[in-house]
Amino acid sequence: MEIQSPDRLIRLAVDLVNADKLRTTGDLQAFLLEHGEPGPIDVDENDLAAIRLLREWLRPVFHGDSAQGARVVNAMLKRYAVRPYLSDHDGTPWHVHVARPGASWAEWLAATTALGLATFAAGHGFEALAVCAAADCERVFANAAEKRPRRFCTPRCAGRTRVAAHRARRA
Ligand SMILES: [Zn+2]
Repeated sequence: MEIQSPDRLIRLAVDLVNADKLRTTGDLQAFLLEHGEPGPIDVDENDLAAIRLLREWLRPVFHGDSAQGARVVNAMLKRYAVRPYLSDHDGTPWHVHVARPGASWAEWLAATTALGLATFAAGHGFEALAVCAAADCERVFANAAEKRPRRFCTPRCAGRTRVAAHRARRA
């Protein structure tokens, strides 16, 4: 359970909100492994239930209301984050921890994604955290490129929306 680059933290938060297939403990294990957590990873039904709730808690941070976003992030930090500390446990390079030692996976993920969102919002503004504008997509994304505003989660959603608008104009 470790924190590396700020990029990794914001990616973890975005991917968690978009992870609509976390149905089993196996799905959760795969998600954590894919996001660089060293195995073997031991998760149970409590972790799964808590992390599914965490997804719902995080989603409004992407809704474009910065006061609401800050409220949610601060509430998560207050509840789950501890004073940051450096650790080099198990021979890993020095890295910052913000979850309490021995935290459950849900507590670790809450503290870590809250830190990632706080850092990202402070650097880029809450407007850089958004929900995809495509009519049939609910995915969220983080756009660190301030000079290039983005409305869609992927070029695929942008393309599909452009084609639909074009068809509507011709009809
Ligand atoms: Zn999309």
